[in-house]
Amino acid sequence: MGNNVVTAFAAMKAGGPLEPWSFESSALGSDEVDIDVTHCGVCHTDLHLMNNDFGITAYPFVPGHEAVGVVKAIGSGVTHLRSGQRVGVGWQRGTCGECEWCGSGLQNLCAKSRPTCLAGYGGFAKSLRVDSYFAIPVPDALGSAVAAPMLCAGITVYSPLRRYLGPGSRVGIVGIGGLGHLAIQFARAMGAEVTAISTTQDKAAEATRFGAHHFVNSTDPEQMKKLAGSLHVLVDTATANLDWSAYLATLRQNGVFCIVGGPQGPVVLPVLQMIFGQYTFAASMIGPPSEIEEMFRFAALHNIRTAVEEIPLDQVNSAMDKVRTNKARYRMVLTM
Ligand code: ZN
Ligand code: ZN
Repeated sequence: MGNNVVTAFAAMKAGGPLEPWSFESSALGSDEVDIDVTHCGVCHTDLHLMNNDFGITAYPFVPGHEAVGVVKAIGSGVTHLRSGQRVGVGWQRGTCGECEWCGSGLQNLCAKSRPTCLAGYGGFAKSLRVDSYFAIPVPDALGSAVAAPMLCAGITVYSPLRRYLGPGSRVGIVGIGGLGHLAIQFARAMGAEVTAISTTQDKAAEATRFGAHHFVNSTDPEQMKKLAGSLHVLVDTATANLDWSAYLATLRQNGVFCIVGGPQGPVVLPVLQMIFGQYTFAASMIGPPSEIEEMFRFAALHNIRTAVEEIPLDQVNSAMDKVRTNKARYRMVLTM
């Protein structure tokens, strides 16, 4: 088998646009698969990585960690996937396979995790090569454009909701964007009473359409006060710094505040308020492949659908602009 040339879009330097670029793939490893990418979602993290905001980006940098496509080539040791099968790849393209987290099926916590677009080239490309364990089958009931954003945005909210919600739990979803609109749908389907919390009054009707029972405009202190002491769980998908004390006040005792998007800077918490409420401040990091599979089944079963705007790969820079300016409703998906 000769080496294949893969066409992609890459940033050549921090702050630069994405440009057409290609690279040659080497020989396929025995545990690897090559996927012909058909769809790839655009995540805010792609923008941060393009700009080297975390200081860990190498260039040329090919973003994309919400890829769906079709298995093209299969390594000699791979028995659970077949050629032509539809699969998705999220934040991880592989992990160490040996640590206690990998051994217990919590690969998302592996310290030697190989992020899809950092330990190789990402999904803004015609082809993507990953460890076959991280190529996750997509059920027939989920379209590829709908499934792609679930691989990062979806699992990021599904995992903590699954961890913290019980039937009848009252949950607040902070921020109604790519993550939040999926969080509302998942929480509703899990049997929770869902309050969507946003600074944007315009999103009230859509929040209801996604399944929220209530909408609270967080810029109105009176509306926030009405929530006082009521919520079991708050999931913060927003990227702005919040008035933490005002948000914690919406929790009932023993409540959990979980950040999944979160501000880039440090969070300063009111300690006495935390203690008297016996609150838990938590964070969540994507989810392992087994949970992504479960999320896909759950989404198929409950007719959960990502609201997507599809755009061809060669218009990727306009898609990035929409994400940068928060104009995506609600997730941009590139089509190859
Ligand atoms: Zn992401
Ligand atoms: Zn590991």
